[in-house]
Formats: sequence, C-alpha cells, structure tokens
Amino acid sequence: MRENRMEQPDIRSMYPEELKERMVQLGEKPFRGAQLFSWLHQKLADSYDQMSDLPAGLRQKLEEQYPLRLPEAVDAQISKLDGTRKYLFRLYDGNVIESVWMRYHHGNSVCVSSQAGCRMGCRFCASTLDGLSRSLQASEMLGQVYQIQKLTGERVSNIVVMGSGEPLDNYENLIRFLKLVSAPEGLNISQRSLTVSTCGLVPEMYRLAEEGLQITLALSLHASSDEKRKKLMPIANRYSLEQVLGACRNYFDKTGRRITFEYALAAGENDGEEDAGELGDLLAGFPCHVNLIPINPVKERKFRRSGKKMVVNFQNKLEKRGINVTIRREMGGDIDGACGQLRKRFMDNQEKNL
Ligand code: SAH
Repeated sequence: MRENRMEQPDIRSMYPEELKERMVQLGEKPFRGAQLFSWLHQKLADSYDQMSDLPAGLRQKLEEQYPLRLPEAVDAQISKLDGTRKYLFRLYDGNVIESVWMRYHHGNSVCVSSQAGCRMGCRFCASTLDGLSRSLQASEMLGQVYQIQKLTGERVSNIVVMGSGEPLDNYENLIRFLKLVSAPEGLNISQRSLTVSTCGLVPEMYRLAEEGLQITLALSLHASSDEKRKKLMPIANRYSLEQVLGACRNYFDKTGRRITFEYALAAGENDGEEDAGELGDLLAGFPCHVNLIPINPVKERKFRRSGKKMVVNFQNKLEKRGINVTIRREMGGDIDGACGQLRKRFMDNQEKNL
C-alpha cells in the first residue's frame, strides 16, 4: 500500500527504539529517548518548552528538526442526550477529519479516523463522497486520542478505528498507531480495547493476523450474498464473501480473537427475513459477534433506516441460530447526522466561502 509522503518525519510517530537512535544521532545519551517518549505519549506535551528535564540545547535542536504538531480542534458538538462529543480537527496541511468521544459504563471510547476521506466507495457512506484526500500518519491518529483526552480531561480506555477512511488502506501507519497507543511507556491502552474496522481488504487481513496483536477485527459485512454486497460495497467486486470470511476465520485461528461483523440495516435493501436467514446460514458456528447498525441516512444517498420492528426481527432470527447479536446503541442522536457529515459540511462551507 501507498506510504505517506511528508517533508519531515513526525517525531510522534516513532517507536521508543527509534527515538533512542535519533538521540544518539544528535549526540545525546540514549536515555533521552525514553524521556522524550514519555513527554510525547504519556504527558501528551504539545511543545518542547514543557519538557523540563531535557537540556535546553536539545529542545532547541528538536524544535528546529522536528516541529511538533497536533491536530487542532476547530469545531465540537456535544450531545445533550448522552454527552457524546464530535470533534472536527484540522491537520497541519489544512485537511480536516472527524473524531467522536463516547462515554460508556466500561469507560470512554474514541472513534478515530484513519484517512481524510476514503476511496472505498461504499454506497451508504458519507466519508467517501469526495474520495480520498490522503492517509493519516500514525501521529495524526494518536493526536486525535491525545487531544480528546486533554479536552475532556478524562482517560480514554477504548479505541475504535471506525471514523473516516479504510484503516487497512493505510496499513503501515495503522500498525504504528496501534503499537504506540498500546505501548506501556505511552497511554498503555490495552490491545483488547482496540478495534479496527475494515470493509474487507483480504490480503491486509491476512497480514494483520501475523502482527501478534490482540486487537479486535471488525468486518463490515452488510449483506449475506455477493450479489447484494456488490450493490452496497464496490470492494465486493474484488473479494468474494467466501474470501473475506476465510480471512476472518484465519484471523480468529491465529489470534484467538472473535470477529465482530457489522451489518448496517437499510430499509428494503438488506433487512428482510430472507436476508436474516441467509446471514444465519453464513455465520452459524462462526466465533463471532454481530453488531446491527440501523443505517444513518446520508442526504446524498438514497438509503433509509430500517424500522425498529424489522431490526428486532432481524436480531431474533440470528439469535435463534445461536449467534451473538447486539443492536448498536445510538449515541449522540441529536448531534449526529451520519459519520463524516460534520466534515462534509465544513468542507462544503469552506468551498462556498472561497
Ligand atoms: N472503512 C472501514 C471503517 C470505517 S466506517 C469499514 O468499512 O469498516 C465504520 C462502520 O460504519 C463501517 O461498518 C461502515 O460500513 C459503517 N457505515 C458507514 N456509513 C454508514 C451509515 N451511513 N450508516 C451506518 N453505518 C455506516
């Protein structure tokens, strides 16, 4: 997959060993690397001035060679219903991305974007309407979490990579992000509390299974036959359900982690009795969890949300086959609009103002 091009490496994307090497290159003692890592990933510093135990000369050199840049919050919406917060962040090059903070009883969760825009083209999704602008660096994914933790003043304990973008289309940066955010010397978020959602890039799913990570893999399934899936997700033209489910099975075999299947219910498209039956046949006995998501209508798209009764019937039918199913609790219903819409509105307005 494509690597990000950038003029300078972002120092916040570096592993502890790499920082150590940089310090030695700069003529410093290796332990400076560990100090710097702690400032960047534990104390979440936004400037070198704060790094009081580093020599002034080193801070100066770092400032010149590796300017620090964290995403800047340019808009925030807070739900009156449940406190969910949606942030719009501006990156150093002017790209904007969305992140969401949600409070659950088991802790605070952040939904992180992995790309500005997306090129996967799912028919119901707002993030893909304007295509891919660029992939995010590891530090820009971390930056969303770090800024939100500072803005809310509360610890983040769960991360779902389910914002804009296809995480496995930004593979190297994603892995770096996952390792850094779970590093004991950093925020130390348990890998079991990290979820990566993919539309189903099969080769990268196999690759991910070999990384030795304990994260949860979520697959956006959304249909129970290739024919229907192709209507919703262009990626289904590249990989069949059999191939995608094979990659899921392999992920479970290699990691012991159950797969989460996401299934967005769109009225009259994939929410019928036969769909539930077919899905049951497909998944019965699979070590998995199914998450039903009543679709969020996007104004540029024709899909409508399934009625409550359809959703519950769908759930019952799967449960009868012994499948573990939940209906995604709606968070921030009053600030919502589908994912990606805050960004889209911001960008459309910017265009108008030019
Ligand atoms: N590219 C990744 C992750 C981003 S989207 C993926 O495809 O999984 C996170 C989840 O939200 C995916 O399951 C995606 O299909 C779903 N989604 C996108 N737009 C939606 C909408 N309008 N309503 C409901 N779910 C949506």
